Amino acid sequence: MGRSNKQKRIAIKVARAERVVLTSRKDSLRQRAFQSGLRDETIIPVNKAKVSSRSVIPKVPDYYYDRWFDCRICGMRELWTAKQQQRWYEEQGGEIETIAIHCNACRRKERLRRAEARKVHLEGLERKRKTRTQLP
Ligand SMILES: [Zn+2]
Repeated sequence: MGRSNKQKRIAIKVARAERVVLTSRKDSLRQRAFQSGLRDETIIPVNKAKVSSRSVIPKVPDYYYDRWFDCRICGMRELWTAKQQQRWYEEQGGEIETIAIHCNACRRKERLRRAEARKVHLEGLERKRKTRTQLP
């Protein structure tokens, strides 16, 4: 049995209504998030008063939404969640122009590498200081 004309008309009306709903920015973001299999709560409104920028005319978005990125070191695809973005921009003082470029594993490795370099540097200074005090 085929669809009745009435059913077709209803389907057209529903599709039209959905298009209207999707015209607002929030809903198009929500739609995009939905299409990529993300949950609705992965969209968080931006508190623009808390966001800093290096630009004279900052481009601050209305919403954070979960986004995928490829790590610039290892190429791993990782999710940068709306929540993480909110923390970065609004609590940790990250400028709105900055985005996540390294995956968690590479960031951890880089932190360790830096800590190690710092340790070596400090040990070097300590050695120099000791050598100086030993001189007459
Ligand atoms: Zn990586």
